[in-house]
Amino acid sequence: MKQITHWINGAPSTMKSERSGDIFNPATGHITGNVAFADAATVDLAVDAATAAFTTWRHSSLTKRTQVLFAFRELVQQNKEKIAALITDEHGKVLSDAAGEVTRGLEVVEFACGIPHLLKGGFSEEVSTGVDVYSIRQALGPVAIISPFNFPAMVPMWFFPVAIACGNTVVVKPSEKDPSATMFMAQLWKEAGLPDGVFNVVHGDKVAVDALLTHPGIKSVSFVGSTPIARYVYETGTKTGKRVQALGGAKNHMVVLPDADLELAADAAINAGFGSAGERCMAISAIVAVEPIASALVARIKSRMANIKTGDGTQGVDMGPLVTQVHRDKVASYIEAGAKAGATLVVDGRALEIAGDGFWLGPTLFDNVTPDMSIYKEEIFGPVLSVIRVDSYEAALALVNSHEYGNGTAIFTNDGGAARRYQNEVEVGMVGINVPIPVPMAYYSFGGWKNSLFGDSHAHGTEGVHFFTRGKVVTSRWLDPSHGGINLGFPQND
Ligand code: NAD
Repeated sequence: MKQITHWINGAPSTMKSERSGDIFNPATGHITGNVAFADAATVDLAVDAATAAFTTWRHSSLTKRTQVLFAFRELVQQNKEKIAALITDEHGKVLSDAAGEVTRGLEVVEFACGIPHLLKGGFSEEVSTGVDVYSIRQALGPVAIISPFNFPAMVPMWFFPVAIACGNTVVVKPSEKDPSATMFMAQLWKEAGLPDGVFNVVHGDKVAVDALLTHPGIKSVSFVGSTPIARYVYETGTKTGKRVQALGGAKNHMVVLPDADLELAADAAINAGFGSAGERCMAISAIVAVEPIASALVARIKSRMANIKTGDGTQGVDMGPLVTQVHRDKVASYIEAGAKAGATLVVDGRALEIAGDGFWLGPTLFDNVTPDMSIYKEEIFGPVLSVIRVDSYEAALALVNSHEYGNGTAIFTNDGGAARRYQNEVEVGMVGINVPIPVPMAYYSFGGWKNSLFGDSHAHGTEGVHFFTRGKVVTSRWLDPSHGGINLGFPQND
């Protein structure tokens, strides 16, 4: 049984924790470890370490920071398979998917390696005679990063490379369901030469989160998780004067216009609907089929679903288990509710049988879903696809825009003009055109609209640099040496 404790000031914490949580292997249903839960006193220690480290890290040269980032990048690259194995073991997603998330996280590290360029300020000469104005961006101090279970490596990596590159120190609170990837990366930071105290990890639940949200030493909070908690984190953190970006839940729509390539659209629906068992904030969960193609599309998706192999993520399958038994049962209850509400249950994932105690649920497809049903209105976060039939592009757009979430969306069409209208008219933060999971690259920023994001900064990219720094503008007037400066041969005033 592994015992996971906090990482404070460059070493595992020796503090005794009164509370702790079980870690499961979702494919077997067995408990594989235990993770200590931080109380307020433990959070204090982590913030103290981050505060002390900030006094020197903020003055480390851009060259030094870049060297550490490059070394960390190499170490993560070398250990990608080990990190992926840790993820699969605690989250359940298939190994290739786990390795994929490490790669996406690495791209943010690579982006942060360009920090000398990203932190360049502006300069205006002679705003008034003999007066210059310039801008600089400075680190905030110790910052908190609170992450969800579904991307235990990538989501913390959306934030900490940029935060550290900007000269901040961090306290990460990973999901208590799969904490090992973050702990492994803490060791890699140390190996990369990051000074102790710059990167700290505390584990736990609401107690640890509340201690971070109210701690006066924490200057900003980057949160990713479900919408009710994101809203709470935003409100609580901003009330105590912190800068907060809180990314929430999603209900991503894929609009399929009548002229779309239906084979491409069906492949996309399978990958984006059932990849990582639908436990992705960019998963497609609602397919808006613009008639007359709905039946043809449903038939294509259904036939492909028969080929999805579900099983232990280490065994070369397509889809793993759900993260916990509680979550598996919650997703199954949505299937029950959808069928009761009158949607057509085309494929019922509850029929899947796999021996053992894993948290299994097969891919599920509903047709004839209507906007009043809970399976349409709410985020399910499981392998459940709903098809909603509409008659026109306008009806599809109105449906997407009336949903409370606005994280990602996709449109499938061969009409460039229709795609262009959609990208302009849709009220969603990330849009894919014939691409089902439009995940921006590290040098663009990631984030949704409406109830998918509280705050105004998206993650990583230049918005990340902006979030993790404060602007300062300096107005300077240096008098000519003739006014009493050192004598360089200029005429002197009397
Ligand atoms: P969650 O909201 O349950 O947990 C997120 C974090 O908050 C965890 O670290 C958890 O320990 C903590 N937490 C849980 N309950 C809390 C409480 N009452 N008070 C304070 N902190 C609390 O989310 P999850 O189940 O881990 O992750 C899935 C959710 O995350 C989904 O809704 C998904 O859409 C969302 N998500 C969003 C994005 C995005 O970019 N918008 C990305 C990934 C995941």
